[in-house]
Amino acid sequence: MFDYVVIGGGIVGVSTAMQLLEARPGCSLALFEKETIIGTHQTGHNSGVIHAGVYYAPGSLKARFCKEGAEATIRLCEENEIALNRCGKLIVATDESEVGALDALAKRCKENQIAIERLDAAEIKLREPQIRAVAGFLVHTTAITNYVAVTGAMRRKIVDAGGEIRLNTNVVNIRENSNHVDLVTSSTDVQARRVIVCAGIMADRMARMCGIDADFRMVPFRGEYFRLPPAKSNIVRHLIYPVPNPSLPFLGVHLTRMINGDVTVGPNAVFGMAREGYPRFSFNFRDTLEALSFPGFWRMAKQHLGFGAKEMWNAIYRRGYLAVCQRYCPELTLDDLEPYPAGIRAQAVMRDGTLVHDFLIRQTARTLHVCNAPSPAATSAIPIGRHIVNLVLSGQPDITKRMVQ
Ligand SMILES: Cc1cc2nc3c(=O)[nH]c(=O)nc-3n(C[C@H](O)[C@H](O)[C@H](O)COP(=O)(O)OP(=O)(O)OC[C@H]3O[C@@H](n4cnc5c(N)ncnc54)[C@H](O)[C@@H]3O)c2cc1C
Repeated sequence: MFDYVVIGGGIVGVSTAMQLLEARPGCSLALFEKETIIGTHQTGHNSGVIHAGVYYAPGSLKARFCKEGAEATIRLCEENEIALNRCGKLIVATDESEVGALDALAKRCKENQIAIERLDAAEIKLREPQIRAVAGFLVHTTAITNYVAVTGAMRRKIVDAGGEIRLNTNVVNIRENSNHVDLVTSSTDVQARRVIVCAGIMADRMARMCGIDADFRMVPFRGEYFRLPPAKSNIVRHLIYPVPNPSLPFLGVHLTRMINGDVTVGPNAVFGMAREGYPRFSFNFRDTLEALSFPGFWRMAKQHLGFGAKEMWNAIYRRGYLAVCQRYCPELTLDDLEPYPAGIRAQAVMRDGTLVHDFLIRQTARTLHVCNAPSPAATSAIPIGRHIVNLVLSGQPDITKRMVQ
C-alpha cells in the first residue's frame, strides 16, 4: 500500500508529488502517468511563457500563485540550468477603442505589484519596428522556458527522494473505501491511503469514478499555432500580446518567441472534437458526445456565440487568422504562417455554462481532484502543488509520520 499516489504526469502532478515528498520525507509515493513520457499533453504543448501575473484579480489565488510561481520557476530553471529567456512582453492596443481596456490592465498590474513601462505609439515603433499600435506597456518580468524540461527537473527530485514514477500506467478505475483507495491500472492494481488526481483534460472522468458530483465537464479547446519562417524569427524582440477579452480565460492570438528560437503566432481557442487528438480535424466519438450532451456546453456556446463563430471561421480560413495578427503586425503575410503543432486546453465548463477561470479543486475523504488548472498553471505549478500538499496534509491524521517512525 502506498501512502500517496498521484495520477497524472503533467507539471501539476509532478510538482505536487515533488512537494509531498519534501513535506513528508520517507513516505511511499508513486506517480502514475498513462503516456510513455511525462508532460505529453498540456505541459508539452503550450507557449512556454512564464507569466508575470498581469491579468488576474488582485488578491485572488490565481494572481498570488502566478507571481510566486514565476519566481519559483525562474529559480528552478537557474538551479537546474534549464534554458530561460527573460525577453519581456509587450501588450498593445491597436486602436483607440482598446485603450480603455489597456488602461484597466495597467491598473491591475499596479494592484498586483507588477512593474510595467508605458509606451506611446512612437516609443513602440522604436522598440518594436514591425509592431503597429497606438499604445502599450512592457512587462519586463515575463520570461520563456521549456516546461517539459522544468517538469523533468521536478521528476528527478521525486526519484532522488525515493518516489516512484510509473509511466505507461493508465488508471482505469478508482474505488474509495473507508481506510484506503483501490486503483485499477493498465498494469498492476494498487492500494493507496491518499490519491491526488492531476489528470488535466480527464479530470471529470476521474472525479466521476470517485462519486464526485459531475456539475462540470472538461471541454477541449484547441489552441492552434503557426510558426514564422526562420527569415522572420527576428521580427520581434519581446512577446507581443493584444488586449484580451476579460470575459474569456484566453489571452488572444499573440506572437511568442519560443525558447528554441522559433517565433509562433497563436494560439486561438476553438472547440476540439478530441481531448487528445492534436492533428487538425481530429475526432473522437466519446469526447464529442460527452461535450455536446452536457447542457453547460450549449449555455457556454450561447453566451460566447460571436467569439466562438469567429474563432471557428479563422481556424478554417487562414486569411481570417492572418487578419487577427495583422492588426498589430501588418508585415505578416499568408506565406509566413507555417504549420506548428496545436495544444489542447483542458477547460472546465460548469452546468450553467460558466467557463471556469480559476483553479477548481474537489475532494472526497481520501481523494483530491484538480478539476481545472488553466493557464497560467504551468507558471504557477509550484505554488499550486504546495497548496494541494497543504490541503492533503491538513485534512488528515499524519499517516506518514507514524510510518516513518
Ligand atoms: C495552447 C496552450 C498554451 C498554453 N500556454 C501557457 C503558457 O504559456 N504559460 C503557462 O503558464 N501556461 C500555459 N498553458 C497552460 C498550461 O500548459 C497548463 O495549465 C498546464 O500544463 C496544466 O498541467 P497539468 O499537469 O494540469 O495537465 P497536463 O499537462 O495535461 O497533464 C495531465 C496528465 O495526466 C495524465 N492522465 C490523464 N488521465 C490519466 C489516467 N487515467 N491515468 C494516468 N495518467 C493520466 C495525462 O496523460 C497527462 O500527462 C497553456 C496551455 C495550452 C493548451
